[in-house]
Amino acid sequence: MRHFPVFLDLNRRRCLVVGGGEVAARKAQQLLRSNADILIVAPRAGDGILALEQQGRVKYEAREFLPGDVSGCALVIAATADKEVNGRAAAAAKAENVPVNVVDNPALCSFIMPSIVDRDPVQIAVSTGGASPVLARLLRVKLETLIPATYGRLATVVREFRGRVKQRFPDFKQRRRFWENILQGPVVEMLFAGQEAAAIQALEDELDSAASADYQAGEVYLVGGGPGDPDLLTFRALRLMQQADVVLYDRLVAPAIVELVRKEARKIYVGKQSDSHTVPQSELNAMLVTLAQQGKRVLRLKGGDPFIFGRGGEEIEELAAAGVPFQIVPGITAAAGCASYAGIPLTHRDYAHSCLFVTGHLKDGKLDLNWPALLQPKQTVAIYMGVKGIDMLQKSLLEQGMQPDMPAAIIQQGTTPDQKVYVGKVATLAQTVADKDVKPPSMIVVGEVVKLHEKLSWYQ
Ligand code: SAH
Repeated sequence: MRHFPVFLDLNRRRCLVVGGGEVAARKAQQLLRSNADILIVAPRAGDGILALEQQGRVKYEAREFLPGDVSGCALVIAATADKEVNGRAAAAAKAENVPVNVVDNPALCSFIMPSIVDRDPVQIAVSTGGASPVLARLLRVKLETLIPATYGRLATVVREFRGRVKQRFPDFKQRRRFWENILQGPVVEMLFAGQEAAAIQALEDELDSAASADYQAGEVYLVGGGPGDPDLLTFRALRLMQQADVVLYDRLVAPAIVELVRKEARKIYVGKQSDSHTVPQSELNAMLVTLAQQGKRVLRLKGGDPFIFGRGGEEIEELAAAGVPFQIVPGITAAAGCASYAGIPLTHRDYAHSCLFVTGHLKDGKLDLNWPALLQPKQTVAIYMGVKGIDMLQKSLLEQGMQPDMPAAIIQQGTTPDQKVYVGKVATLAQTVADKDVKPPSMIVVGEVVKLHEKLSWYQ
């Protein structure tokens, strides 16, 4: 991050604008929104600045800029068409450690101005670090359409209630939960619908009737994080990720997804079965129960879907037995994610009428699979955890009667920027793994549908 974002309190603080044209007038207008005390210096001024002066909103001095003008200023904006004057203003400001922005000259700036979505008192500032003002503006327009105009009113109402809520719930954690509950519920909908009195009444009622106990119970969220691409998270997953106190995640969860968890949440890496740093399953189950019983909201974040080769069932069983409340959020399972991103439909009217999900994980060096089921015609077989035991898997498939030239694909790190797709036949699977040094996590997809990859591949 090249530029550190902050919000300055400019209330009645002296700010200097150097320049008398339209741009200078616009910058002065922006500064006025935060009630700054503005001095404008320029030998000549255009209508914009003269009008501001006449209204008594800025002080204008018709003269050349002098280095001493920057003294005591909270910030300086140089907005003349004269490069030399802008340069002198920037140098004077820097010499006195006063933040300075020179319009259209990033090299001379010590701060840059973001695009702003203004929902006073809510402010959203967008910056591309100077890379593209147009991109920042487009992003701002997107945000404008997403965030209702009444957001500012919402923040004002919240501010009015803050003191009372603090008295009612001296404990910070309970307070946070109270607000999370309110800010995702009907009060907000009423405000957005213009029913302000009803919204305030509902907030009053909630505050009167809420018992501390409502806001201190622990809970576990068993959440599927999908195969890797953060765009494939569900809305619910993202929402619960924002309100967790603790997160337990394993190796399969992509770092880009862990990044999206609430910053203040404690993050515990619990590894994965084949890891040396692994937390044994029994210990993990007990940890979930203990943390929830301490009143924490525990996010158990898993790759793909928690109920597909994810041991989610075992973890939940223990919670249910201990009477800990929980929610389960499905995720896109690796078979579906990898197949889509490789352009391989798992079913197809011409090639596959069913799809089988199996694990290629070896137990005591053996594969325990229902072979006749795997060999059904017009079927796709999606194999999880198949890379390590690929020699045994390929040998067994062929011995059991699978056609050696049956199309088969290996998709490594599907849905991520490192995705690799290798297309071949069942008889070449092991060779491909060896030649291409294929590593987990990888999905193996077997069936006629693999032929469609060539035509339907889209993700690079
Ligand atoms: N619960 C998970 C599966 C866990 S088993 C789910 O629903 O997806 C772990 C196996 O999933 C890996 O060995 C691999 O076969 C597969 N897998 C998970 N993420 C993957 C990815 N991004 N690309 C390829 N395979 C993946």
